[in-house]
Amino acid sequence: MYKLRFRQVHLDFHTSPAIDKIGIEFKKEQWQEALKLGYVDSITCFSKCHHGWSYHPTKIGKQHPHLKFDLLRSQFDAAKEIGVNVPVYLSAGMDNVASEEHPEWRGVDEHGAYSVGFPTAHCDPNNPDEMKAGFHKMCFNTPYVEYLCRQIEEAVKLFPQADGIFLDIVYQGPCYCKWCREIMKSKGLDISIEEDYKEYVRIALGNYFSKSTAACKILRNDMPVFHNSGHIQRGNREFLKYFSHLELESLPTGGWGYDHFPVSAKYSQNLPYDYLGMTGKFHTTWGEFGGFKHPNALKYECSAMLAYGSKCSVGDQLHPQGRMSISTYNLIGTAYKEVKEKEPWCDNVTSVADIGLLSCEAANSMNIAVQDEVPADVGAARILLEGHFLFDVLDCEMDFTKYKVLILPDDIKIDDNLKTKLDSYLQNGGKLLLTGKSGLASDNKDFLFDVGADWCGQSEFQPDYVLPIKEYRPSFIESPLVMYMPSQRIKVTTGKSLGQVYEPYFNRNYKHFCSHQHAPAKPVPSGFDSGVRKGNIAYLAHPVFSIYRGFGAVAYKEYIINVLRSLLDKPTITVNLPSQGRVTLMNQNKHNRYVLHLLYANTICRGGDMNLPNGTVSGRTQKVEVIDELLPINNVKAGLNLNKKVKSVICVPGGDKLPFTQQDCAVEFVLPTLRCHQMIEINF
Ligand SMILES: [Zn+2]
Repeated sequence: MYKLRFRQVHLDFHTSPAIDKIGIEFKKEQWQEALKLGYVDSITCFSKCHHGWSYHPTKIGKQHPHLKFDLLRSQFDAAKEIGVNVPVYLSAGMDNVASEEHPEWRGVDEHGAYSVGFPTAHCDPNNPDEMKAGFHKMCFNTPYVEYLCRQIEEAVKLFPQADGIFLDIVYQGPCYCKWCREIMKSKGLDISIEEDYKEYVRIALGNYFSKSTAACKILRNDMPVFHNSGHIQRGNREFLKYFSHLELESLPTGGWGYDHFPVSAKYSQNLPYDYLGMTGKFHTTWGEFGGFKHPNALKYECSAMLAYGSKCSVGDQLHPQGRMSISTYNLIGTAYKEVKEKEPWCDNVTSVADIGLLSCEAANSMNIAVQDEVPADVGAARILLEGHFLFDVLDCEMDFTKYKVLILPDDIKIDDNLKTKLDSYLQNGGKLLLTGKSGLASDNKDFLFDVGADWCGQSEFQPDYVLPIKEYRPSFIESPLVMYMPSQRIKVTTGKSLGQVYEPYFNRNYKHFCSHQHAPAKPVPSGFDSGVRKGNIAYLAHPVFSIYRGFGAVAYKEYIINVLRSLLDKPTITVNLPSQGRVTLMNQNKHNRYVLHLLYANTICRGGDMNLPNGTVSGRTQKVEVIDELLPINNVKAGLNLNKKVKSVICVPGGDKLPFTQQDCAVEFVLPTLRCHQMIEINF
């Protein structure tokens, strides 16, 4: 397995041809000083940017018109001289130099207009306007791919000792260029049909992946290669063979949010690759010159990467004149100094998990675009993160047997293979939580499992209400709770009812409405149950995780967690952190120890929509999740159920020993103060 370094920088350099004196402020000493200040051990530098310019002499592409020397060579040698790795970047999916010379290689939408790639702040996908500033998306079915491959080969030959090739914007949307139309015709594909569209994308990406990866390996078969799409798509492993490692692009304030990375990492940790998390130094996202997040935010983000078993990468953008920002490398240094000290406890670890979350994105093999999210997955992951459960995120190929509880959130379509795997999991004593449509047959006629209830169709009401039985009810509610998405109607037969559904007087529409929002619940229950438990299976009739994703009410969380706790007896860990606290447990077998990660920061939504006069700002004003102060949490009590005799419990890297008790398998201790991140070594 190719092993990544821990402290990386991804140094963007998308540089306009309208700016002169490119790189003239580059000085080896200043470059090296910045890298040392930042405790950086790997920096990804540019061969070719989204504008399409090369930053070294080229016979294939075009060197930036105002660059008078081999900038990449200077950066490369200066980094290598101080032991810093240099992976080399080429923009694959966007290239404005190529698009100007060969407009026929651009993506074209169904109206014949050039497409703008995927939705970003660069361009408005609903209003692609050629007169607006923005990068141009190239089509992977055109001869552009050959041009790109010659550029990759040239970069590899110029820099045979590069520590990898990073190819960006690997994405194919619907395109109606002449090559795509030819493929559709010859293969008989109608891309307005979902299955045909998937096949078409598969052909385009297959063309890109096979050729570009071969180009990367033209000199060295062990050349590391990463293809970036902004998200590691769960469940689709077809193209993973073209990767040497994974880089999980996930800038918390750049549209991904703080909960994208944990979920992505918890999926990646069960794939046979080393992986890193990629955030940014920016307050918002890529390309934000002069934007800085607070050092506390970067400290938290890098700590989270370690806690989720990941290596670290921070995105920066170099000034066109080539001078590194000392403020930026001071900022990165505050985070990476700590990372360096923590590394020995973070390498060669495997996660310990009680719960497997089968991803909707994976199971339904969704063809999702960059940064799109599946609400059921996000909601379920949030519940598990906020409830401090130990969990992994799974696709259908992964091993289910090691989990005490398996969650199928809201809308998992179960085919014969998955059914067989789930049956065997249940027979071996595994427990299953099904919600919403998960567990229904593909024709939506009945349950696939004996949940102890009859299925009577989907409710016509949206919203409706639930009143869970006492033991599952949110602690502060005694009356029906509004549920914003339709429930499946069930009547309990041989199982135990988990509560009642109350229906509203009517749906809100032109015929009738009540007050500002939905109609109230009728005073008597509908006769349908809100959930059922039979044996090892619990079923909730609402898509509770999607509702939590959409609305975030604490009452929903308590309801779901109560049900989950009833399935999970003897969790491996209990901890009294607040909901923004995060817990992971890693096994570092080689050292006979577990490493417990406790993590806490309070994100605050600041910023908001408003009109900016004149409109030359490309980003939108928006809510930004800011981390400002890092507040201490005192007396964090942790209880662990381990099948090991524990010898010592030590705060690392500091070395403070924590007193602990152990009775049978249960170990208990108290951490006096948690500020941001604490690793606790549990030796056995
Ligand atoms: Zn095309």
